[in-house]
Amino acid sequence: MDINSYIEKLPMRAVKLRKDGSYTVVPRMSQGRINAEQLLAIYSVVQEHNLPGVRLTAGQRLMLDGIPAEVLEAVVEKIGPVGDVYRHKVQACLGTAGCKLAMQDSMSLAEKLEEHIKDFVLPTKLKSSVSGCSMCCAESMIRDVGLIGRKTGWTVSFGGNGGKRVRRGDILAEDVSSQEAFDIIGKALAFYAEHAKVKERTARFVERVSVDAVKKAVLGK
Ligand code: SF4
Repeated sequence: MDINSYIEKLPMRAVKLRKDGSYTVVPRMSQGRINAEQLLAIYSVVQEHNLPGVRLTAGQRLMLDGIPAEVLEAVVEKIGPVGDVYRHKVQACLGTAGCKLAMQDSMSLAEKLEEHIKDFVLPTKLKSSVSGCSMCCAESMIRDVGLIGRKTGWTVSFGGNGGKRVRRGDILAEDVSSQEAFDIIGKALAFYAEHAKVKERTARFVERVSVDAVKKAVLGK
């Protein structure tokens, strides 16, 4: 099998070709977590193939850099699961798993949100995050979909962007349960999927159609 056919069979976002002809490989991690077996396997392949190293990405993942084409398959097979299972990644802060300020369990909700939105076919990439309190360490207000935990429930934000044209997301609901939040997010994404232009991110979409139109579609008011 040639190298491109091999890469095509791997999970999403597992391997990327760099400009210099080498490859990067992303071990599979959920909400920034990695286990001892994965760490040992990564250490082992870096040593064995004399790879330049491992770095942390902005998306809370490890990335093995500078992998020559001739050892790519050996590296991937040794480090175990790679890439993503879910189409739309959701990031989270530590939340109640380890932060004393947390009001809600952000990591668990992020995992459930990934499952909840996995089948949406959208015009372009979607960035989502869940923060366990109003400190918003997962930067939920500048994500397409943002959830922020409060003592009384979740705040749902939609249409944020942290890129070249920064936009603060619009609050669609406050103090809602996780199930209510998921229903709202599902309706917002369905409206976005149906009416957005190709490659139009949620921030530009909300600016174009207006937040009132989004709220009407989602909340009926
Ligand atoms: S957003 Fe709140 S719960 Fe999450 S890490 Fe920051 S302070 Fe802690």
